[in-house]
Amino acid sequence: MPSGLTPDSRRVSIPPCSGELIEMRPGQLLTIIDDEGGQVVDFFAESATDPHEVLSSGVTIDCNESLRLHRGHTLYSDRYRPMFDLIEDTVGEHDLLHPCCRPEMYDHFYGNGAGHPSCLENINTALGRARSAITPVNLFMHTVVRPDLTISVEEPVSRAGDHVTLRARMPLRVALAACSVTESRCNSGRSTSITAVLTTPPEAAG
Ligand SMILES: [Zn+2]
Repeated sequence: MPSGLTPDSRRVSIPPCSGELIEMRPGQLLTIIDDEGGQVVDFFAESATDPHEVLSSGVTIDCNESLRLHRGHTLYSDRYRPMFDLIEDTVGEHDLLHPCCRPEMYDHFYGNGAGHPSCLENINTALGRARSAITPVNLFMHTVVRPDLTISVEEPVSRAGDHVTLRARMPLRVALAACSVTESRCNSGRSTSITAVLTTPPEAAG
């Protein structure tokens, strides 16, 4: 479990196949915990002052010069401004390539999109938007890029209690979704809960 749980911490439990909004001030810390292990978290954010500025996995790949996300990396907006610093990571295996799951994806692969919960809907609902597509940062998602550049999605390597901690670099509205895919190895064949803990260090208070 993350250290630093203080009276200034706020803990939010996010049930399987659902999403949540968390607002952050610069300097606040958000710890995202895989409660049971093997669960992907679709992580997305918009600027609290301009919802047209959003988290960009592509710009994050560009600026970090890496398809992988490591502790010490920064997550960037589509305007090449720092949104978050990744300051703690007990897993080291995340995905920057895949879009949010959506009904059409379920139809494409499994023929069951009608009425299926999805990260696109859960994130749009959390933020109160109707974005037509979102490519989030897929925390704990285990995508293998083979030498011939084909890819496969494998079971996450995260175990119960594994977590990442991100520090906000600007005022943010953050949406988290416990990914709804139960049809593949993406979430180990099931969807389970996640927990988010928002912490305010003394330097970010006020
Ligand atoms: Zn999903």
